[in-house]
Amino acid sequence: MMRRLTALLLTLLTLLSLTACGGQSSDPPAEGPDAPDAGEGEPVEVLPPEPEPYTILDPTVMPEGGVRDGVTYVAWDGIVEHLFFHPVVAYPELAFDGDAQANGIDDYMVTVDEYDKILQSVYDKGYVLVDIGDVWSETTGEDGQPKMVKNTLYLPEGKKPLILSFDDTNYYEYMLSNGFTYKLVLDENGKIASWGKDPQGNEVVSRDLDAIPILDKFVEEHPDFSPFGAKGCLSLTGYEGILGYRTQTDTKSWTAAQEANRQKEIEAVKPIIAELKRTGWTFGSHTWGHIRLGSKSLETIQEDTQRWFDEVGSLVGPTTILFYPHGERPDGNDWQNTGPVFRYLQSQGFRVFCSVGIESFSYIKKDICAVICDRLHPDGTTLRHSRDRYLQFYDAKDIMDVAVRPQREIDWA
Ligand SMILES: [Zn+2]
Repeated sequence: MMRRLTALLLTLLTLLSLTACGGQSSDPPAEGPDAPDAGEGEPVEVLPPEPEPYTILDPTVMPEGGVRDGVTYVAWDGIVEHLFFHPVVAYPELAFDGDAQANGIDDYMVTVDEYDKILQSVYDKGYVLVDIGDVWSETTGEDGQPKMVKNTLYLPEGKKPLILSFDDTNYYEYMLSNGFTYKLVLDENGKIASWGKDPQGNEVVSRDLDAIPILDKFVEEHPDFSPFGAKGCLSLTGYEGILGYRTQTDTKSWTAAQEANRQKEIEAVKPIIAELKRTGWTFGSHTWGHIRLGSKSLETIQEDTQRWFDEVGSLVGPTTILFYPHGERPDGNDWQNTGPVFRYLQSQGFRVFCSVGIESFSYIKKDICAVICDRLHPDGTTLRHSRDRYLQFYDAKDIMDVAVRPQREIDWA
């Protein structure tokens, strides 16, 4: 009942804000004239283009059985599927060149072509994007204690909800020479694009070579894929900065010049973060050091978490989402036990704890305000070996770019 009232109120507020701002309910980007690359020498007097209106709606405020713009929204209480990707391979000839990283990239990543086909397939199969932050809410239980609840999502009739998350969107040094893009930038139209180098060493700014702008473009072309404006949740470490900007500290040696460069990178990434947020992207922690939460000491985990807040959280804002590095669960089994590591992480504000698994399993913990969820992982390993499990999303036979990948075993071939 309370939620119903809140929902009504929110609907009213949304309507009011829509009227007030002429259809644009999101804030303008905080940083205007600060271009990400201001090192060209000559001051440029060009104002950035006006951001296009981008409305993020809350799925929980959709009226029950309501109709809006000719679309009927109905309650969904079933499984919310969750797929996660690593950065996608822009140049397979660099990624799969037989060097020491080639098989790891084959195991854990998909190529741009495969990613494009996966998006098309999940769209064709009736999935629509929802924000991970809208799937569960914190509330007060009958015992007066805070607890998580799963929300009823109101989706366009016939559609199924899908969360996307993207691990390690840091643009690690090792990836740069291995066929990945180097960083996110704003292109000449003020939209998120990638910057990088092609195999011949030419600089390339593109919206077709990186998972993030590719999804942005896909939603522009298929707006009904994201009925509420959601995109994906970016899972960030901190040890090599974020989004391709070297915003990290180094405790071993640190000079004034290094700090000055770090401050420059921090200023450069701010408009990228603002634009990502404005267009439906959210952020979660993947720990600062990509550390194993199942084997590190509590003290190490506390230091790492604080460092993530200092160097990453300070830029992207607060988050309730934690993505376990290596999928490794704290305290042994986190859904039967609530151990000291889990308690500590929860005390730091995390509520949704994501691992990796063979289904989109989720479990609301009874003894602490938290939810645990597993994610499926489209990548070389599952394309080769788990075709059946992913048929509800796509058929690996139609997706896998066998010709460009290493010649390794495929179960269905
Ligand atoms: Zn990771």
